[in-house]
Amino acid sequence: MGDLQIIVGEDEEARILSCAPPDGIKGLICKSQEAKEFAYCPYSNFRVGAALLAHDGTVFTGCNVENACYNLGVCAERNAIAKAVSEGYRNFKAIAIASDLNEQFISPCGGCRQFMREFGTHWDVYLSKPDGSYVETTVAQLLPVSFGPEDLKKKKVFTIQNGF
Ligand SMILES: [Zn+2]
Repeated sequence: MGDLQIIVGEDEEARILSCAPPDGIKGLICKSQEAKEFAYCPYSNFRVGAALLAHDGTVFTGCNVENACYNLGVCAERNAIAKAVSEGYRNFKAIAIASDLNEQFISPCGGCRQFMREFGTHWDVYLSKPDGSYVETTVAQLLPVSFGPEDLKKKKVFTIQNGF
C-alpha cells in the first residue's frame, strides 16, 4: 500500500519508520500501524497498535504493554483511551486497531470493548490487516446489549443507605 514508508534495515527486517497518512480512515489505520511498532510484547509476541480519533481531530495512539506478571498486561486500545482521558478527552469518533495477522482483521478483546463502551456506543471501530484493508464496525455492534455508566443511574428496587 502506498500509505506507508517501509525501509529494510541491516537485519533485513522491514520496519515501518513513518507514514505520511492522508486524512480519514486510512490515515488513522496508518497511525495504528505505527503505534504497533512500539508494542512491548515479549511474552505473547503479538503486536497490537491502536489509534484513537477524538472529537476535535486529535489522535492518541497506544500499543500493548505486557508484564512479567502476565495479568498486568495492557492492551493497545485501552492504552490509547487512557492516554486520551488523562489529557482531558472523553468524546471519541473512532479507533483503528492494527496487528500482524495477515489473514484476519484484528478484533478487540472483551475487556477493551467494555472500556470503549464507557465513552459511548455510537462511535466507529476499524479492524485492520497489515495491508491496510479494514472492516468498519461500531462499539455497539461489538458489544451489544451492553452495560454502561447510564445504567448506574436507573431506578432500582433497593437503595443502599449511608454507604452500607
Ligand atoms: Zn484488549
